[in-house]
Amino acid sequence: MRVILLNTPDPDRPVNRDMAGGLGFDRSKSSLLPPLDLLNYAAVLKRKSHDVILIDGQAGRFSNDALKTVIAEQRPDVLVFTASLPTVDNDIAYAQAIREILPANSRLVCKTAVRLQPVVEKILLESGCDFCIIGECDLVIDEILKRTERMGTAEILNGQYTIEDEILLEDLDSLPVVDRSLLHNSDYSYFPFGTSVTTMQTSRGCPFPCGYYCPYPLVQGERWRSMSAERIYTELFHIINCDKINHVFFRDATFTYNQERIRELCHLIIKNNLQVFWWCETRVNVLSTELLSLMRDAGCRGLNIGVETGNEELLSRSAKQGITLDSVRKISEYCRNNDIILRFLLMIGLPGESRESLYHTFQLVKSTRPDYIGVTTVTPYPGTLFYEDAVKNNWIKNSDINTFGGHGYNVEIGSMKSDDLEFAMKKIYEVHRAITKDEGDARMIEDEFLKWKEK
Ligand code: SF4
Repeated sequence: MRVILLNTPDPDRPVNRDMAGGLGFDRSKSSLLPPLDLLNYAAVLKRKSHDVILIDGQAGRFSNDALKTVIAEQRPDVLVFTASLPTVDNDIAYAQAIREILPANSRLVCKTAVRLQPVVEKILLESGCDFCIIGECDLVIDEILKRTERMGTAEILNGQYTIEDEILLEDLDSLPVVDRSLLHNSDYSYFPFGTSVTTMQTSRGCPFPCGYYCPYPLVQGERWRSMSAERIYTELFHIINCDKINHVFFRDATFTYNQERIRELCHLIIKNNLQVFWWCETRVNVLSTELLSLMRDAGCRGLNIGVETGNEELLSRSAKQGITLDSVRKISEYCRNNDIILRFLLMIGLPGESRESLYHTFQLVKSTRPDYIGVTTVTPYPGTLFYEDAVKNNWIKNSDINTFGGHGYNVEIGSMKSDDLEFAMKKIYEVHRAITKDEGDARMIEDEFLKWKEK
């Protein structure tokens, strides 16, 4: 079987498709991550002797016409394209154009993390695709593409939307090491970490209660499943020695959920003197200064931690149960004194947000001085409990999914209007620039914030 795996181009709506649990998240020009899901498919298909071409349309190497010429020339038996939540209209339009140049007996298949029936149904009805892959079908992808297996897929059968049972991959160690030579690895970057970055996802799922609003448990499930330290080490060794890449961004939602696993991994890296620099994302309550010290010795250069808010009550009530501002400050201080770059992930607009709580977030940034921050707005991802509350309480002001990329002003709760959130976000970024890059006057920015807060 000849298969083209296409990460659909998104010239008008750049997203990192594997972020937001796989639903897709707004990306800046300086961050482009490889399509890991397609790399996994390619590895399994190649192991089963299929002919695979992987094209990352987002990397900008092909114009639309050139890409279509490649597809027409290759005459694949199957073409798999990707679709994300905020780009779904663009992805559908692209698929329609591809359908016209594919041989009539070729299959067109959509790979998406979106589970929302109206959206999946829209893809099925409008894109010209034969079916959608929505489950973790990595290990049986050849059977899925041949239609000898239907689990984890959705299609229109006899005019009816039909969805088969989900597949959740239990044994992540059984995933083959992916072949990154299928991509131009120099295309990929993660802005705090530099260029020529590759990614690994060593666990799936997240059991934490911030699943109230977060899309990771929604897409990947609440049960945490992981690769062993040995399996991660094997792939890291391959990345360094075969792919010649030495910067790795772990795409796990909570990389250190099992701290013992990370200790084992760090000991393997240190014992074998593997020269790898890495970055990860995790939660403060599954970190310790002892673990951070070991991680740094094993090449960890930085991490993202979900902080969401500087308001203690909001933090414990709905944002990040189990985390205190003290623990955030302690980790920040440790990172600053020990050459670990820290990026706070903040979220504004949760239920209970006020000008006062936004000021607390402003103050937290000013006082803890993280190296980087990323501020997002709370998004009512359908399927989350937050979405249910938002519908029940009539909080949703903009339900256009094209704006569900993490920065849309989709809800208004209580007295918090979009303008308030926009103002606060702007000032939080301004004060961060002022304290970390000496651009502007932090005191003046704080005075402006205080004046607005008291209005
Ligand atoms: S810990 Fe992170 S990934 Fe997990 S539910 Fe909370 S916000 Fe989402």
